[in-house]
Amino acid sequence: MARLDWIQKEIKNLKDGGLYNNIRTLSSPQGAWLEVDGRKVLNFCSNNYLGLANDARMVKAAQEAIQRYGVGSGAVRSIAGTMDLHLELEKRVAAFKQSEAAITFQSGFCANLGTIQALVGKRDVIFSDELNHASIIDGCRLSGAEIIRYDHCSPSSLEQVIKEHEGTFEKAIIVSDGVFSMDGDIAPLDKLYEIAKAHDIILMVDDAHGEGVLGKGGRGIVDHFNLHGKVDIEVGTFSKAFGVVGGVVSGNAVIIEWLRQRGRPFLFSSAVTPPDAAACLAAIDILESSTELVDRLWDNGKYFKAALTEMGFDTGISQTPITPVMLGEAPLAQQFSRELFEQGIFASAIGFPTVPKGKARIRVMISAAHTRDDLDKGLEAFKAAGKKLGVI
Ligand SMILES: *Cc1c(COP(=O)(O)O)cnc(C)c1O
Repeated sequence: MARLDWIQKEIKNLKDGGLYNNIRTLSSPQGAWLEVDGRKVLNFCSNNYLGLANDARMVKAAQEAIQRYGVGSGAVRSIAGTMDLHLELEKRVAAFKQSEAAITFQSGFCANLGTIQALVGKRDVIFSDELNHASIIDGCRLSGAEIIRYDHCSPSSLEQVIKEHEGTFEKAIIVSDGVFSMDGDIAPLDKLYEIAKAHDIILMVDDAHGEGVLGKGGRGIVDHFNLHGKVDIEVGTFSKAFGVVGGVVSGNAVIIEWLRQRGRPFLFSSAVTPPDAAACLAAIDILESSTELVDRLWDNGKYFKAALTEMGFDTGISQTPITPVMLGEAPLAQQFSRELFEQGIFASAIGFPTVPKGKARIRVMISAAHTRDDLDKGLEAFKAAGKKLGVI
């Protein structure tokens, strides 16, 4: 097996460096509490921000869709896979976000790959925040365009690289995460918009962690900055706050029309299933009916972060309910996570390459599903583990 020796060696390196992914198994639905590897634990890992993944209204909508449409979509969207449910979902997302139009994809990852590739190519450039999500990076690479990174969340750095490259490209696009998932900070979209407008460059934001979180009643980052109709492309995902799976691009109607013709995952990978589409529609109903869940998510996030800071933890630069607990080296973060798990708290360690070397952390994902009691239990465990490992 000499041809596979290198993989064995790489795996050993990961294990030695505390960077090997030990993947745990759930045997319960998503929620504040989970059964993980046979144990009941308090969940601080999921992106189920609003607790919708196992909400009775969502489950019912999915069941009804299965009764009516079956489980599969049967084809790619452009041949025979477009059901009225997909179009209804696209219409509802566009209305929810006050954008001109929307198109759905199988995932946020697919939405980024398909969109970037469809808009820029070999003679073009992409101005990309240096900490953008892997799916944006892969979309940029697949497009064949030149990728020019600018300093994280820095409008002046963006302005500078655009000036440096002026006249060297045909088309350009500026792309940024909306909420950065590892730090919880928010891209300065208002400033990015001013720059995009001044240079007549397409602006794209990936709001995977802002969907259902930022803006009025969870309407996302464009709503948060009141930039309706100004940001060309807002990518979203249904897999996080929406609690289902799927991706969406909303924004400029001409771009959306183009993506129906040239978005490769839309053309070459089968459509989202009927129960998924129906559950996403139910999520929009829930978000439109009340801001209660979004409000509770923020209250919970503020409460948890303030208590950790008070204990002496470094919670980084987060402006959202995402709560990183900065620990530095990856082995310490892994040890911390194991210590928490011993106490029945499930919170994952995150290290290189997901975050830079030396910036390993526990990332606490707060949800509207957590009760105050849950949060207090979590805080007690953080305090005990922090003292034991000499962090606080
Ligand atoms: C999670 C995430 C995605 C991928 O979304 P999926 O729907 O899970 O594929 C894309 N971009 C960002 C910024 C994300 O955080």
